[in-house]
Amino acid sequence: MTHNENTVCVTMLGTGTSTGVPVIGCSCRVCSSADPRDKRSRTACWIRVGEISIVIDTGPDFRRQALREGIDRVDAVLYTHHHFDHVVGIDDLRPFLFSNRRPIPCFAHEQTAVVLRSMFRYIFADGSYPGVPSLDLRIVDRAFDVHDRYQHGGSTIQVIPIEAFHGALPLFGYRVGNFAYLTDTSHIPDASLGLLEGVDTLVLDALRHEAHPTHFTIAEAVDVARRVGARKTYFTHMTHSFLHAEETDRLPEGIELAYDGLTFEVR
Ligand SMILES: [Zn+2]
Ligand SMILES: [Zn+2]
Repeated sequence: MTHNENTVCVTMLGTGTSTGVPVIGCSCRVCSSADPRDKRSRTACWIRVGEISIVIDTGPDFRRQALREGIDRVDAVLYTHHHFDHVVGIDDLRPFLFSNRRPIPCFAHEQTAVVLRSMFRYIFADGSYPGVPSLDLRIVDRAFDVHDRYQHGGSTIQVIPIEAFHGALPLFGYRVGNFAYLTDTSHIPDASLGLLEGVDTLVLDALRHEAHPTHFTIAEAVDVARRVGARKTYFTHMTHSFLHAEETDRLPEGIELAYDGLTFEVR
C-alpha cells in the first residue's frame, strides 16, 4: 500500500464501552454472537501517516490490540481522558522503548494529565525504578506536531486537539488531516465543531439507544454526524445492546458502526 503525505491510515483497535463486549457473565444474544464484529474490546485507535505511528488511548486491552494489529512502533500517544478503559494499558508501552530509548510523548488535556500523574506516580513522579516506561507527558491546548521518534530530522504531522465534554468532564478528541476521532462525548461545543470543518471521516461515540448522562446515544450521534457532515462517520464505544449486522443496516447513508480491526484510509 502506498501512502502519499496526506493519507491517514486508521485502524480501530477497540470499539467497545468500558466493560468490553462480551460483558463478563452476560449471555445475551450480542455477548454470545458468533459475528466477530460483535466482539468489542475497549475503545482505542491507531493512526499512521507515512512512517509516523500514533496511538489514541491505551486501555486494558491495549496489549492484545497491539499484538493483533502488529503495531511495531509508537511515535506518540494521544490521551482522550483519564478513565480506566482508556489508560490502564499504559505500562504496555514499554516494548516500544526496547529498541528506541527516546521517551514516548503522551499528549493530553491538562485535567487528564493531572489525573494520569497521580494514577501512575511510579511512571510520572517517583523516578526510582529502572523498569518504568519512559513517557513524556505533555499538556496541550492547541495544535501540536508529532515527530518521527525513530529518526533525527524525520517527518512531522500536525494534530489538532478538539475539546468536548463527557458529562461535566472536559476531554479531547483529535483531528489528524481529514480524520477526526471523538469518543466519550455527551457534548461538543460549537467552537469545537468548527475545528471539524472539512473532515472526511469521523469516529464518534455512540453508546446505545437509551439515554446516558455522559455519552451520546445512537440518535444523538446521528445528529452530530449530520452537523459535521463528514463523508463517512463510524460509531464507537458501543455496549452489548445491539448486533452489528442489525444496527448498521438501520443507520443513515454514510454512517456505520465501527468494529475491532476495521481499517480505512482518509485523504
Ligand atoms: Zn470510555
Ligand atoms: Zn450481553
